[in-house]
Amino acid sequence: MISALRDSTAHVFVDAIDAPVLDEIDAHHLLRVLRVKPSDTVTVSDGKGKWCSGVLNSDATIEATSEVFTTAAPNWPLTVAFSLVKGDRPEWTVQKLTEIGIDEIVVLAPTVRSVVRWDHDRSNKNIERLRRVAREAAMQSRRTWLPNVHGVIEMSTIAHLFIADPSGVSLDASHRSIAVGPEGGFAPHETETCSGLVSLGETVLRAETAAVSAAVLMSDYRRKRN
Ligand code: SAM
Repeated sequence: MISALRDSTAHVFVDAIDAPVLDEIDAHHLLRVLRVKPSDTVTVSDGKGKWCSGVLNSDATIEATSEVFTTAAPNWPLTVAFSLVKGDRPEWTVQKLTEIGIDEIVVLAPTVRSVVRWDHDRSNKNIERLRRVAREAAMQSRRTWLPNVHGVIEMSTIAHLFIADPSGVSLDASHRSIAVGPEGGFAPHETETCSGLVSLGETVLRAETAAVSAAVLMSDYRRKRN
């Protein structure tokens, strides 16, 4: 990882990298919660690969102290699609998938054995909340590309999708897009249209553990190939 990003006091996303200004919530977080001082170096990114170092002024503007760097878009984008499960586990899942570096995070439409179902209004609101969770996690993990959070999407519409299933083949570099089922798993007919089944290990994992395992294993293959 680039040391300027890793060592910065805080990392934050802005709309315009050439004239970076923090939004109200980020300004409050950096100035009042993290108590970033004028002497501290922060990094700012547009979430689309561009970033620079800077110092934070009390009016929430950032004075750049470096050139603007560009990180190339992921040449090997990774997708994790997951079924909704109870409680705050979708938030937790999105946070961890973002930290690990997943590029496309997909909330699946209810499947046969899904217990949790969002109605249309709640869906839009909840997906927006998950996007905020991803943005915060991307700040914490110093990402320069924000992940895309999609939802809610029918599994059958996602191309080249493998299904996480203990009976599947061992994960390898060809698996770049994986779907994880709900608490009760997928019904047999739901997996028929997918590209294949992929195993994440010898034990039955909770859905959110399976999503994180898929992310870690796929990221490791990407890291070794890059
Ligand atoms: N009794 C359910 C079943 O047999 O499918 C268990 C479902 S598990 C709690 C939730 C999801 O996690 C599964 O649908 C699957 O996608 C994923 N999963 C759990 N353990 C796994 C493993 N060892 N390998 C691959 N996927 C796994």
